[in-house]
Amino acid sequence: MSQDAETILILTGAGISAESGLSTFRDKGGLWRRYETADVATPEGFARDPDLVHEFYNLRRRKLATVSPNAAHKALARLQRDYPGRVVIVTQNVDDLHERAGGRDIIHMHGEILKMRCTACGESRRRVDDLGPALPCPDCGQQGTLRPDVVWFGETPCHLPRIQTALGACGLFLSIGTSGNVYPAAGFVAAAHARGVPTVELNLEPSEQNGHFGEARYGPATSVVPAWVDRFLEQFGKDRR
Ligand code: NAD
Repeated sequence: MSQDAETILILTGAGISAESGLSTFRDKGGLWRRYETADVATPEGFARDPDLVHEFYNLRRRKLATVSPNAAHKALARLQRDYPGRVVIVTQNVDDLHERAGGRDIIHMHGEILKMRCTACGESRRRVDDLGPALPCPDCGQQGTLRPDVVWFGETPCHLPRIQTALGACGLFLSIGTSGNVYPAAGFVAAAHARGVPTVELNLEPSEQNGHFGEARYGPATSVVPAWVDRFLEQFGKDRR
């Protein structure tokens, strides 16, 4: 690895998976316009009506099985393959499209929909099929304790120490397909910017955090992400010669 291949940290959000056919959260037609967040994305909602919450995530899990990674996920996997430095993807998405595109070094800060976690014993396991309140935990045998292993409102995101370390070490920060509304992820660009790190936004439209980005490209992820990766790798290759 060359001395000048600095770590790149990429934050992704629902917008990168939109063209694969997965709903975003706040856009027109987004998931949270159709469901109440308090009902399906809080621990209190789950305690109140576990059937509804399981149904919501079962639908999303089934939908995920029908979609594929798009050109933006694939471009990031290519960047990870062809760039000689480290490229860390911190995703707010609970889907597995970065992995299925061939990506690696992926941190799921809001959990993973293809995992279930037992609230009694704490074990987390892969789960592709539907979940329901009647299913006993395969580890401790208790019933009614399994939940999707995702981060709900009011809960702490996963892997924050690893993310902070990567954020503190990166020499380039990229944000793709996120509205910049949900913290702590929304605050990452300001932290990178404050350290003097170059910051790039690739999104359909300016996000809430657009004032912190030194460079921005607006358009669908399947166009702007591959184009940015091509240009970046080409420029990087030239600069090293
Ligand atoms: P978002 O819906 O808030 O924003 C999506 C962004 O993507 C928007 O800025 C939009 O302009 C952009 N976009 C839409 N289509 C695009 C395309 N084709 N190409 C490029 N950009 C496109 O989603 P977010 O920013 O990921 O939300 C942050 C996080 O908030 C979510 O990942 C989610 O984890 C969290 N959230 C969680 C819950 C929960 O259940 N815990 C509920 C709501 C939000």
